[in-house]
Amino acid sequence: MDYLWSPWRYRYVSQAAPGNGCIFCEKPQQADHDALIVCRSAHCYVILNRFPYTSGHVMVVPYVHIATLEEASSDVLRELMELTALTTRHLRSVYQPKGINLGMNLGECAGAGVAGHLHMHVVPRWPGDVNFMTVVGETRVLPEDLSTTYDRLRKAFSSDA
Ligand SMILES: [Zn+2]
Repeated sequence: MDYLWSPWRYRYVSQAAPGNGCIFCEKPQQADHDALIVCRSAHCYVILNRFPYTSGHVMVVPYVHIATLEEASSDVLRELMELTALTTRHLRSVYQPKGINLGMNLGECAGAGVAGHLHMHVVPRWPGDVNFMTVVGETRVLPEDLSTTYDRLRKAFSSDA
């Protein structure tokens, strides 16, 4: 079942960031809509993947620049999982997926696109989604554009406030 692991293969690609060059440190300094951040919490935020494996592919990311779980404080670890749980709840309500992949790539050889900054992938799945998500090089055919995904998930997260 190789395809189950393929989401983690895709890099989180973006324009070169200023500062320390870490995209996950830079994104929270931008406006939510520009950064595609759908939720900010105390220790972590939820951001759309610009090259989603499926519609609704997001990442839960701590603000602090750490590469491993063992560097994370208890507060960060707790919120990382709580926000992941909240994200799965909203994805289920907005997209009605039949399954969800959760995963972290720790280290470049494990497939991390941004190895220096911990992040949890959350990928909604449907039976047969590999068929309409055919990958040709780095180009994917997406069933929904990112701004639509952003608006839908932003609205779902806003309902918590
Ligand atoms: Zn960082």
